[in-house]
Amino acid sequence: MKPVFRLLILSLVSLTFSCQNKTEKSEITKINSIEEPEVIADNQDTFYQYSIWFAFVNKVFDGNLTVKELKTHGDVGLGSFDFLDGELVMLDGVPYRIRENGEINVGQDNDEIVYADAAFFDKEEEFTIEEPFNFSDLASKLDTKKKSPHYFYIYKVHGSFKHIKLGGVPKVERPFTEGLDVLIPNRPVFEAENISGTLVGFYCPDYIGDINARGHHFHFISDDKKWGGHVMDFESSGALEVQSDTKTKYEFDLPVSKEFENVDLSKTFQYN
Ligand SMILES: [Zn+2]
Repeated sequence: MKPVFRLLILSLVSLTFSCQNKTEKSEITKINSIEEPEVIADNQDTFYQYSIWFAFVNKVFDGNLTVKELKTHGDVGLGSFDFLDGELVMLDGVPYRIRENGEINVGQDNDEIVYADAAFFDKEEEFTIEEPFNFSDLASKLDTKKKSPHYFYIYKVHGSFKHIKLGGVPKVERPFTEGLDVLIPNRPVFEAENISGTLVGFYCPDYIGDINARGHHFHFISDDKKWGGHVMDFESSGALEVQSDTKTKYEFDLPVSKEFENVDLSKTFQYN
């Protein structure tokens, strides 16, 4: 290498270092600045929930969280739309609505949601699970990878499935007569063979009680975005690529309605 080129490379290297230093300094200044609203940083590391599981189980089926608002709390999510008119799965900031007949579309800003988990996904760990397995095997593998079962975890799991069984929700009308303890065991079920897509998962520690669904809760959206729902079981057909994110902050908003104010929270229901 000619000396003149070496000099040029050295200059470029030192220029890069000085730029990096400048960036670091300016970032430090920004963080310390009193104008910087801390809430933005907090929001990025929060497991957000709309309504409480206990209310959802006990027929609070008319929520007032809009899709537009939901998107300010995360870019991944799962839940159900108002009046159980579709399951929700949000991936990469796009909230999909899957109706009970299997029809799928993108939720519009004014559409309302009755129950949701959401978070800004910040990939912390990535690993591959090679051998074929089912949903309960996946849950066990994820458990062994957790730093502790006492934190909250968000997952994106991509892969191909030999078989997958998904649940929908049946649309309800007022007056609401049955809660989730009756509706979920009788939910519409969709099954597909040889399909690829993403499982979006939220994990809550057992101590959450009936505030949320305990353990692993996953919804699925196919790669072609034509098929999705609540994951009941599956058999994978190859390696699954898992991305995980640990959350140590938890926040929820309660519905503001007469229905919520007067709800009888006597019934309980959990998936596991
Ligand atoms: Zn679900």
